[in-house]
Amino acid sequence: MNECVFCKIVDGELPSRKVYEDEEILAFHDISPLAAVHVLIIPKIHITSLADCTSKHQDLLGRMLLLAPRLAKEHGLDTGFRTIINTGRGGGQTVFHLHINMFGGDRPAQA
Ligand code: 5GP
Ligand code: ZN
Repeated sequence: MNECVFCKIVDGELPSRKVYEDEEILAFHDISPLAAVHVLIIPKIHITSLADCTSKHQDLLGRMLLLAPRLAKEHGLDTGFRTIINTGRGGGQTVFHLHINMFGGDRPAQA
């Protein structure tokens, strides 16, 4: 049984707020955003981390990366955005399914 949270999102077993989908890639809002906009860009196939990628993933990685500026623009991040790929426990990765964190914009003030 696959216990990967992001695989469950791909399979529709867990809900997500999708912002982009094609045959190979899914992008959705982070459940605990670090900024006004925080989107996760993931491959639909399970790849544990960037350290598990090989040359066969080159095109997929390129397409995932190029989605970041497109989705940033679509979400109004006109002055820029950040992209982070945490890799492995030592790299701060908490969900072990490859993902690009794309985020930016001010968080609304807390009441
Ligand atoms: P990282 O592994 O790069 O540190 O971060 C994983 C990110 O996934 C975190 O920002 C966390 O909030 C997000 N996340 C974890 N579980 C879920 C989930 O079930 N749904 C969504 N949309 N985001 C999640
Ligand atoms: Zn997975």
